[in-house]
Amino acid sequence: MRYISTRGGMPPKKFSQILLAGLAPDGGLAMPEAYPAVTAAELEAWRGLDYPALAFEIVSRFVDDISAADLRGILARTYTAGAFRSDEITPLRTLEPGLHILGLSNGPTLAFKDIAMQLLGNLFEHALARTGEDLNILGATSGDTGPSAEHAMRGKRGIRVFMLSPQGKMSRFQTAQMFSLKEPNIFNIAIRGVFDDCQDIVKAVSNDITFKQRHRIGTVNSINWARILAQVVYYFKGYLAATTSNAEQVSFAVPSGNFGNVCAGHVARMMGLPIRRLIVATNENDVLDEFFRTGCYRPRATTETVHTSSPSMDISKASNFERFIFDLSGRDTARVKELWRAVDKGGAFDLSGTPLWERMADFGFVSGASNHAARIATIRETWARYGELIDPHTADGLKVGQAHREEGVPLVCLETALPVKFSDSIVEALGREPERPAGYENLESLPQRYVVMNADSDAVKAFIVEQVAGQDWGTPPALLSGAYGADV
Ligand SMILES: *Cc1c(COP(=O)(O)O)cnc(C)c1O
Repeated sequence: MRYISTRGGMPPKKFSQILLAGLAPDGGLAMPEAYPAVTAAELEAWRGLDYPALAFEIVSRFVDDISAADLRGILARTYTAGAFRSDEITPLRTLEPGLHILGLSNGPTLAFKDIAMQLLGNLFEHALARTGEDLNILGATSGDTGPSAEHAMRGKRGIRVFMLSPQGKMSRFQTAQMFSLKEPNIFNIAIRGVFDDCQDIVKAVSNDITFKQRHRIGTVNSINWARILAQVVYYFKGYLAATTSNAEQVSFAVPSGNFGNVCAGHVARMMGLPIRRLIVATNENDVLDEFFRTGCYRPRATTETVHTSSPSMDISKASNFERFIFDLSGRDTARVKELWRAVDKGGAFDLSGTPLWERMADFGFVSGASNHAARIATIRETWARYGELIDPHTADGLKVGQAHREEGVPLVCLETALPVKFSDSIVEALGREPERPAGYENLESLPQRYVVMNADSDAVKAFIVEQVAGQDWGTPPALLSGAYGADV
């Protein structure tokens, strides 16, 4: 299996060559040259497999430059009951016949991003061990990505994480998930500013090609193909858990932001998984809903992006959306390039009335948008009717999913976080705090390690250089040990 760019400007590459890369050199996203087809007989045979074995069947079709034994080992180390709280890894819960929730949020940071990020950590470690190189991951987070990345990379030899977050703007729970980590390869940088300031710093550092190469700067953002690939697995797992025969079709409702999660569903469907509908649920930031309803893709300015009570879906543009348009266009890279010429300049495109829009029906997408009132009402109703407590993002998915539910077609709603991460909304809906899973009782009172810096990319660069030079794998960096409980 080789990988090409959605914009046609990258010679075909192996999996290991795109694993550590961000955007393709032409600004596009890496995609497999073709989707491996899964036959009905194979799908039937997979019904009995546990999660790591199922993951091997799927992932190995996209990866041919890691030995089968190594890949099996990596998957077995990643998807353990220890890390994900059950052997099922992604347990299916049934609300009523034909209506299910796929529990994707039982990993270390209680959000679905762990499923991909935990694998990424082990794949990175494996790749770096082969070359003997090290990697400095620079990221920006407004909530779920930072904790997930840090918990996946903590203690991994050869990898450091420099995570920027807007000082005092994340929930106390999310902040503590990152700042309480003690591993010497994790560096928390609280920026005096907002999330966009953090993202601008990451962009500025990444655009300094000399610095980026000299200091081996990498990212773990949602355009990473391996993250999408890891997510394909649970669509198969969810399908198999919700059906007894391959003659059945299933629809999935997906709380969406950057289009990574639902893109994995699209890949599973292209491989032949009997998915009827992929239901894209957005919050008030409805860029994707607008596209699937009207054909117009109009990324928003950051000033138009509103802060909502499902904050992990507060996006202005959907980074992975280009992957779907690549397939929709019949892999016409010239067309993708032309469409994104407008998008990259802050513009939009409209496919309505074009031949592409007529092909949409083949891909099974439908969509809807939720809002604060609907989210709170859904949390309340789901609790009252089924005794199930769901988080605000999952509530958006369930709300929109139910609007598209069809008689006789099982609906699987993806749970993208646990309610404890967003307790304000739970209190608003139910008048009480959500329960905490074991092990998280005192999270916010643990000692914290971080530094506070101005929104200045040169200062961040200097910090990285200083820490990398001073790093002695095994002893905590001196600078941070003095910053316990500083001024967040
Ligand atoms: C990241 C995230 C999403 C959005 O997922 P995408 O892959 O960006 O579409 C939804 N819910 C939660 C809780 C998240 O952390």
